[in-house]
Amino acid sequence: MLPVIYFDANATEPLRPQARDAMLQAATLCGNPSSVHQAGRQARKLLDDARKRIARHFDAEDDNCVFTSGGTEACALAIHGLQQENGPRRVIIGATEHDAVRQACAETTILPVDANGQINPADLERTLAEDQSPALVCLMLANNETGVLHPVAEAGRICAQYGALLHIDAVQAAGRVPVSVTSPGVTSLAISGHKFGGPKGAGALLLAGGGARQLAPLFAGGGQERGRRGGTPALPAIYAMAAALDAAIADQEQRTQQQTRFRDRIDAAAKASGSVVIGENSPRLPNTTSLATPGIRAEARLITMDMAGICISSGSACSSGKIGRRSHVLEAMNTGELADCTVRVSLPWNVTEDEVTQFISIWARPAR
Ligand code: PLP
Repeated sequence: MLPVIYFDANATEPLRPQARDAMLQAATLCGNPSSVHQAGRQARKLLDDARKRIARHFDAEDDNCVFTSGGTEACALAIHGLQQENGPRRVIIGATEHDAVRQACAETTILPVDANGQINPADLERTLAEDQSPALVCLMLANNETGVLHPVAEAGRICAQYGALLHIDAVQAAGRVPVSVTSPGVTSLAISGHKFGGPKGAGALLLAGGGARQLAPLFAGGGQERGRRGGTPALPAIYAMAAALDAAIADQEQRTQQQTRFRDRIDAAAKASGSVVIGENSPRLPNTTSLATPGIRAEARLITMDMAGICISSGSACSSGKIGRRSHVLEAMNTGELADCTVRVSLPWNVTEDEVTQFISIWARPAR
């Protein structure tokens, strides 16, 4: 068997060893964090500890870290709850948002993106100025397919100026680039543990402000998470998410330098062999590149790479299984037919130079 080179980190990152240890530690505890007896109190201690550590990394108050099952639920909760805050609020989203956001709102105003994948803050300002009814704006910090970063700091300033709430989908950004819920104009941040080396099954919604911010729950259940998310929390996954985040942030700077160098090597080699880098002129995540090769369909490329032991994907993990569906991200960027020839390469936290070298040599000789 060929050794697998896993370059699909944006679908899910490999589990970090610190997360695996923490998961096992929490999984051996029997108590429910809501129980008042000592077994429950032991579990509650780990839950509180995870909440404190995660909140701190995003400058949120502990009470404003609401645990969820992942990024999709965190975005759905933000949209459901914030739409009702002094609302109803109309929802404005970027054209390249993940389905976690696109499918969570019935009706939206869509902000276009340019050929580099970014919204134009002037479009946001115009949209808010034209209709001054209460609004909720949803923008991703980093795009999952291209790695393109939106100008969220500017969007935040505009939202603050017009009294609009701003939900940031930071699922791909958390642990990879600095993110804070105290940035001007930001109301909430969604994160997902398995995107930074935690296990699947835990995420969080970080809310801005002091004191526990009220939020209408998607499901009230037994009133856990201060009434904002019912249900027994998945303690092993949550405790492991905290450990993964600690580790991801501890090596963020050094990893950014290394991954940027690796990504630039891949981009240069891909361009030399006739590929185009989508979103190249925008600021991007250090670990992500979106490569289109005119004349070589994405499926053919994926099969060639898979046969050589390399895992990459043709878009988001959620949509790549759906045959014949063009990426809405690439369509919004007006890439035309190139969309059918585009694959995503996303480097994991434990990528090595050797793997990058092998990737490059295989990329240069794809079957047509
Ligand atoms: N938002 C973005 C930008 C994503 O890339 C993803 C997953 O790929 C999600 C939200 C959903 O996260 P989860 O898989 O944890 O539900």
